[in-house]
Amino acid sequence: MQLMKNKKLLIALALVLCVTLSGCGKEAKGNEEEHNVILPVVSQGQQTQEEQKPQIPVVSEEESYKTMLVNITHPIAKDYTMELVTVAGYKMDVRAAEDMRLMLDDAKAEGLDPIICSAYRSVDRQITLFNNQVKKQQGYGLNYDEAFEKAKTVVAYPGTSEHHTGLAADIVARSHQVLDDSQENTAEQKWLMENSWKYGYILRYPSDKCDLTKIIYEPWHYRYVGKEVAQYLYENDLCLEEYWLQLADMDPEKYGYILEEITPEQIVPKQEPQPAPQPEQPPVEETPQDSVILDDSFTQEQQQAAAEQGADSGDQTVENTVTSDDTGITDATPAEELPVDETITEDAIV
Ligand SMILES: [Zn+2]
Repeated sequence: MQLMKNKKLLIALALVLCVTLSGCGKEAKGNEEEHNVILPVVSQGQQTQEEQKPQIPVVSEEESYKTMLVNITHPIAKDYTMELVTVAGYKMDVRAAEDMRLMLDDAKAEGLDPIICSAYRSVDRQITLFNNQVKKQQGYGLNYDEAFEKAKTVVAYPGTSEHHTGLAADIVARSHQVLDDSQENTAEQKWLMENSWKYGYILRYPSDKCDLTKIIYEPWHYRYVGKEVAQYLYENDLCLEEYWLQLADMDPEKYGYILEEITPEQIVPKQEPQPAPQPEQPPVEETPQDSVILDDSFTQEQQQAAAEQGADSGDQTVENTVTSDDTGITDATPAEELPVDETITEDAIV
């Protein structure tokens, strides 16, 4: 009897053990499946995505000027105003000025000698520069339309230059005051390219972003975007256009508007075609009225200002639609030739 009891007990134990093991086995298998198939793929994938996709810094409404996009398809708003102060003889937005001073001072402390050669430029002044260029091209025998289109490849179209923001400055080495690719070889430019982000500035038109910026490589043009965004753009090798594309992708409802392009002519329209100047008549001696291509939205005062003689622009070799954001200074031209615009007032900004 005792033996039978033991046998039954053994069988019962075996059954329990079997069921337990079987259950454990299923559970283990289930966990294994979950572990091998579901969990790792999802969790690791999410982690990898998060690791690869850094958080896009977004500025507050109050600081929206920092990331303001001004380019050929996004002209500056006519009613945009800012407070201007002088930095090293050039006017800049007060909100970007202190960091610019700091950057220049720190570069000098390193034994370098960077100097600003252009900063804030009013829309009116840009109109003058543009009209001078149109006339110059007409003087070469082009009709008005041809001259107008040619001028757009040499001089930034009024309203589309980042210099209108007061947040951009052209900086060159004192020992090499030349605005061409060779500027990148100066010790000053190397230092600026490596360190400007620490002061909230970015090299705005890098050599590998021309298709996005529509501006030629300009190893001298720096734009204030604030320290947080500057660091993000620098570390992720992005230009400002790419930053906006990322924002539009992240929140189309809020930032998608940036994908809408505005034709610059909507801001400063073309005037009626004019006859080309007589060959014997130098373009600079044209009457002021001939140089104005303004619509009624500009005041008489602004038209007069635009008609004033401004610095002339030289030729610059450009390809396709890529142009320069800078005018008046071209290769082999001393950088200081563009004088500070003494007529600048906040009211003049359109
Ligand atoms: Zn510039």
